[in-house]
Amino acid sequence: MSPDDAELRPSRTADVGGQTVRRALPQRHRRTVGAWCFADHFGPTSVRADAGIDVGPHPHMGLQTVTWVVSGEILHRDSLGSEQLIRPGQLNLMTAGNGVSHSEEHPSGFAGELHGIQLWVAQPESTRHGSPSFEHLSDLPRVELAAAEATVLVGEFGGVVSAARRDSDLVGIDLHLRTGTCTLPVDPRFEHALVVLEGEVVVLTADSMRVTPGNLAYLGSGADEVSLAVAGEARAVLLGGVPFEAPILMAWNFVARERSEIDRAVSEWNAGSERFGHTASPLGRIPAPQPPWSRR
Ligand code: MN
Repeated sequence: MSPDDAELRPSRTADVGGQTVRRALPQRHRRTVGAWCFADHFGPTSVRADAGIDVGPHPHMGLQTVTWVVSGEILHRDSLGSEQLIRPGQLNLMTAGNGVSHSEEHPSGFAGELHGIQLWVAQPESTRHGSPSFEHLSDLPRVELAAAEATVLVGEFGGVVSAARRDSDLVGIDLHLRTGTCTLPVDPRFEHALVVLEGEVVVLTADSMRVTPGNLAYLGSGADEVSLAVAGEARAVLLGGVPFEAPILMAWNFVARERSEIDRAVSEWNAGSERFGHTASPLGRIPAPQPPWSRR
């Protein structure tokens, strides 16, 4: 990685469904890493059987949601009729295209630690107006490295490929790191960033950048490996991809290119348009806020 490009940026905190999250992406000066455009690190937090994450039906367009839990459970329901419990080690991937809606719920009876990350992938022009879809992958490829185990969420890494749909050249890897140094082979065409979920990771290939939870470590592009050192144990997600094809416009749960597209999505969701379907959920539908440019 070119150390000139590398930078450590703090995440900001946000509230999502009653949980405080660390939002590593987007950053003011770094909207995307490849097509990755959003990264919310939630937990670890202790949830009771009667209270956890609860996000009622809400719409998306122009993006994929990628939900990954390290511990705990989340119930996903969407307007395609999917009802899927998300458990550790399983990838939940919803492609919005022109429009979809879903809810993210606390499964009844679950008590314990909730910890994970929700990522969004901006869809390219070629698919962003297309149909929505949903997939759940319970068996992801793994790669054993010195001092680390990598699980390939999306894309190709270490000679194996995830079956998850991808609409642009990108990669997402979960890393379970142990004491020592691990060297990850990466695609030099990609820019990369690291989000640490637990522990402390030193990026040796970026001026020994020390990364802890609550930051986005941007690693630049152009190198064919990333070396990480850990004392003890750590958990992190490496995101990468070819720099995205166009600047995106992101407002609330929508990704677009023009304000008019967001304006139309807001009014259609709030009017109950068929475009975003119907998600059968006991939780209340979340109204879309007016975008910042049309607020008084
Ligand atoms: Mn959502």
